[in-house]
Amino acid sequence: MTEKSYSETRCENIKENLKVIRNNISEAAIRSGRNPDDIKLMAVTKTVDVEFINYAMDNCGIDLIGENKVQEFFSKKDKLHRCESHLIGHLQTNKVKQIVGEVSCIQSVDSVKVAKEISKYSLQKGIKTNILLEVNIGKEQDKFGIMPENFDEIFSEIATFDGILIKGLMAIPPICEKIEKSKQYFENMYKLFLDIQSKKGDNIDITVLSQGMSADYSAAIECGSNLVRVGSAIFGDRIY
Ligand SMILES: *Cc1c(COP(=O)(O)O)cnc(C)c1O
Repeated sequence: MTEKSYSETRCENIKENLKVIRNNISEAAIRSGRNPDDIKLMAVTKTVDVEFINYAMDNCGIDLIGENKVQEFFSKKDKLHRCESHLIGHLQTNKVKQIVGEVSCIQSVDSVKVAKEISKYSLQKGIKTNILLEVNIGKEQDKFGIMPENFDEIFSEIATFDGILIKGLMAIPPICEKIEKSKQYFENMYKLFLDIQSKKGDNIDITVLSQGMSADYSAAIECGSNLVRVGSAIFGDRIY
């Protein structure tokens, strides 16, 4: 009898994990009166080797990945078999030029300054870049994201930039022991999401609410999320 390699075991786990996650997503969607097909699952691939990302794409139907860092994204990009990518981590202005045109959405736009830069390079490349506005819904000092009290003003200004298309919102709420507390943050995001759906303009097309990670994606879906970003529940604990 041959023993299974590390790689085989890990792939089996990924496949199994995704079965469970997809089932949970469906159930949460149905509980909240929605169609499971309306919830998009993103595989968050930071620290994950390309081998396993490709496995998830080739064998488990993953068609959207999220990377946090521009540099890590580029280190993997050419080895990926295919697949749509979003940037989900904080973006410094000096990296904007590199990333514009390389990912289909930048989810982590948290300032007028970075949005302006994205718009500038998008116009230079003759494209319009999809973005989400990241909201610091828990108002945590050590986190990125637009503070809720500044949101309207920042939204209005960013909506004037012709190189971007505001597609919606992203949040990473505080880690809460009780899921009920997490749900309050998710619900506050959902309210904001509904609010901005009424906003119209050439650079606005609000359809995406990106919230929910490994620990809380079911709760996030119950509160209106339609894009969940799941990493460790798919690939196992991250080793940095
Ligand atoms: C790492 C990360 C995730 C995924 O986290 P898990 O808890 O592993 O699911 C989602 N969103 C962002 C922005 C992240 O940085």
